[in-house]
Amino acid sequence: MVLRPILRADAMSDDPLRALIRTIPDFPKPGIQFRDITTVLRDAEGFGLAIARMKVALAGHDITMIAGIEARGFIFGAALAREMGLGFVPIRKKDKLPGRTIGMNYALEYGQDRIEIHDDAVGAGDRIGLVDDLIATGGTAIAATKLLRSAGTEVPLAVFLVDLPDLGGAERLRGEGVIVEALVGFAGH
Ligand code: AMP
Repeated sequence: MVLRPILRADAMSDDPLRALIRTIPDFPKPGIQFRDITTVLRDAEGFGLAIARMKVALAGHDITMIAGIEARGFIFGAALAREMGLGFVPIRKKDKLPGRTIGMNYALEYGQDRIEIHDDAVGAGDRIGLVDDLIATGGTAIAATKLLRSAGTEVPLAVFLVDLPDLGGAERLRGEGVIVEALVGFAGH
């Protein structure tokens, strides 16, 4: 038998979405269990199920706009925005946007990073649904929430395909007054 370095996250799960998420050990560095969502995207029913469940999570919060975090948050966020008839705002890594920007720095394990939006992308009166593929420590999503709120918007809710609850990010984001919904949880890192 050929051993492959790729494991199903939970082959026994009866949640088809969970079973479609592929776990790749030691990527991008030793000790990280990378939760690969490309295996959801390539499956038409799985991708549709993910968007349908995220749409349910976002319903009832009077969301006026979707914001997605670079890069995988763009895929789910843009599909959701179209599905819900809303506009989409990409939250980008620093120095990618061509116009005048506002940004927010956040700490990484080593050093720091920055996310940005155009300074006219959102404004007072917008109620933003924040979308990303995965929440781990929550650093990125909290920075995104603070950035959007600094522009005068409300961010009542954030939706993720995957939560890694042991890393505490969802709890931290809830501490910022954001309702956090995730479709699938995985123990560990
Ligand atoms: P964090 O700011 O720690 O919540 O990290 C969230 C961002 O890092 C998301 O945009 C994820 O795409 C990515 N990420 C962090 N950990 C993982 C992981 N184990 N598998 C896949 N993506 C991850």
